[in-house]
Amino acid sequence: MTDRQQLKWSVVLPGIPVSSNRGALGWSSVTLIESENHRILVDTGSYGDRALLLEKLGQKGFGPEDITMLFLTHFHFDHVLNLDLFPKAALYLSEAERDYIDQKDFLSVHDPFVPEPFYRFNVDRITSFSGEKCLVPGIRTIPLPGHTPGMTGLLLEQEKVLIAGDGIKNGYEFARDLPPPVFGSKRDALASYRKARDIADIIVPGHDRPFRNRDGEVSAYLDHFFIEVRFVPDPWIPEKIITFSSR
Ligand SMILES: [Zn+2]
Repeated sequence: MTDRQQLKWSVVLPGIPVSSNRGALGWSSVTLIESENHRILVDTGSYGDRALLLEKLGQKGFGPEDITMLFLTHFHFDHVLNLDLFPKAALYLSEAERDYIDQKDFLSVHDPFVPEPFYRFNVDRITSFSGEKCLVPGIRTIPLPGHTPGMTGLLLEQEKVLIAGDGIKNGYEFARDLPPPVFGSKRDALASYRKARDIADIIVPGHDRPFRNRDGEVSAYLDHFFIEVRFVPDPWIPEKIITFSSR
C-alpha cells in the first residue's frame, strides 16, 4: 500500500454530449489534477472556451503559470487549442498520436479535426511517451486507441478515476457499446471500452460529465450540466433563448 495522499481531481469545463447541423461544437471536458508537486490540466478545450477556462481556473485559485503540466489525450482541435495559454507547463502527447500526425495518417482517414499547423507550431514543446507510463506518482497513462490511434487517457491509480478523453465520448455510447467516431480502428475502440470497464470506478468522458462505472455499467452520473444558447434570428422579435440540461 502506498501512504501518499489522495490526488485531488476536478472538472474545470464539463464535457457536453451535443452535436449540431453546423459542424462540431467541440464542448469537451477539461480536467484538473492536483498532486503535491503538480497541477496537471488534462486537455485544454477549444478556442471558444478560452476566456471561460481562465475564469474557472481563477475561481480555483490558479493562474496559467500555476499549471505545471498539460496532458493532451489526443490532438483534435476541441482538446488542444488553448495549450499556448500555459507556456511554462510541460506538454505531453503520446508517440502514437504524434506518428498519426507526422506520417499524415490523419489525412488518409479524412480526419478533419487535427489542427496540423497548430501542431507544427508547438511540436518542439512536446514530450512524447508510449504505452502505459507513470506520469507522476499515482498517475498512469492508459492507451485507449480507436477514436484516434494515439488516444490516451490518464488513470489515477489509487482513486481508480480514468480521464478517458474521446476514448469514451459519452455515457450513452459507452452503455450501449457503441464506439465513438473512429479514425483509428473500431476493434481497438471497443477493446478500449473493455479496458476502461476493467480498471476504472469513475470515468471522465471526453464529451460528458463523470460517471460511476460499476461492473462495467454506467451506474450513476456524478454531475449535471446546464446549457443556455442565445440567438437573435432577426430585428423584429426579442432574443431567443434555448436551454437544455441533463436533469
Ligand atoms: Zn476527438
